[in-house]
Amino acid sequence: MSTTNKPESMILACPHCHKKNRIATGRMSEQPKCGQCKEALITGTPLELTIETYKAHMSSDMPVVVDFWAPWCGPCQQFGPFYEQVAPQFAERARFAKINTQNENVLGQRYNIRSIPTVAIFHKDQEIARQAGVMSPQQLHQWVEQVLQGLSL
Ligand SMILES: [Zn+2]
Repeated sequence: MSTTNKPESMILACPHCHKKNRIATGRMSEQPKCGQCKEALITGTPLELTIETYKAHMSSDMPVVVDFWAPWCGPCQQFGPFYEQVAPQFAERARFAKINTQNENVLGQRYNIRSIPTVAIFHKDQEIARQAGVMSPQQLHQWVEQVLQGLSL
């Protein structure tokens, strides 16, 4: 009998075909594959979300970190590589995603993005943290770590 409340499995959307998969939490480090398309469920690479694909990920059990950005935004260009650098450090604990607010302006409005870059963290469709402006890789890592620890996953 376990005394913790850790769930035995979690729902995780595939970064390739966006199909939801149920994964035993103990197997997260064993490079789980998607039951539908057989691609890796955990990549460590930020995933570009669109109006068609964002819902499957936002409603998954794995927290989603989203970089709201746009191609014309200088600070976003500066922040992008930092974001990519930090993503693999959290690969098994959070889904790192990007939303291009120029292409997906409906999503920018939906999440009330007032300036970019803005990074927001979601869990089960709820926004749990938000930070606007460029962060260094260290700052981003610390902030995400702090937010994830607060979730006690
Ligand atoms: Zn898939």
